[in-house]
Amino acid sequence: MEAMTLNEYGNWTQGMWVSFPSEAQGNDDKSLFIATFGLAGETGELAGLIHELKSQRIWTPAEFCKELGDVTFYTCFLLRTFGKQPLDIITPRLGRVSPAYGADPYEALARLTKNMGFVVEKVKKYLRDGTDVPIDKVTPCLREAWAAIEDIAHYVGLSIEEVIMENVRKIEDRKLRGVRRGSGDNR
Ligand SMILES: [Mg+2]
Repeated sequence: MEAMTLNEYGNWTQGMWVSFPSEAQGNDDKSLFIATFGLAGETGELAGLIHELKSQRIWTPAEFCKELGDVTFYTCFLLRTFGKQPLDIITPRLGRVSPAYGADPYEALARLTKNMGFVVEKVKKYLRDGTDVPIDKVTPCLREAWAAIEDIAHYVGLSIEEVIMENVRKIEDRKLRGVRRGSGDNR
């Protein structure tokens, strides 16, 4: 599979997320809510994996690659839902590089959660009060969230390109097999 640019990946996420095509097409609110809840849920799953890592459970880079890919998927999909191209917001660090904030995945997880939480709050207020999501405020949070995702990837020895390509492989495989709905990796 050929490597994608981050913008190509963002466009690809738009074509791949749909679980309910007949209902969801043309429904921007539904895309927004699913992308936001998806990001929150997948951040939680990644947190679980980091907790296990810190608890000395035996882990593999492949597990991290999948969970990190779930988070990159919803981050890019959310940016597309806001009408942004990922590369308008994010400058990816390519290759395997050292974590920017020291080798502590909890610290990176805290940054990811803080920024993701800000976005979720704004979307909640849109849902509750009808106030517009302030895109100029949430997109910098997604940029910070992305930096944290990269730090976690680098901590476990992965590049962001590897994470993205594994995510594409996993979802394309599910699409081919007609099992995109549901949950878990063993579909
Ligand atoms: Mg997941």
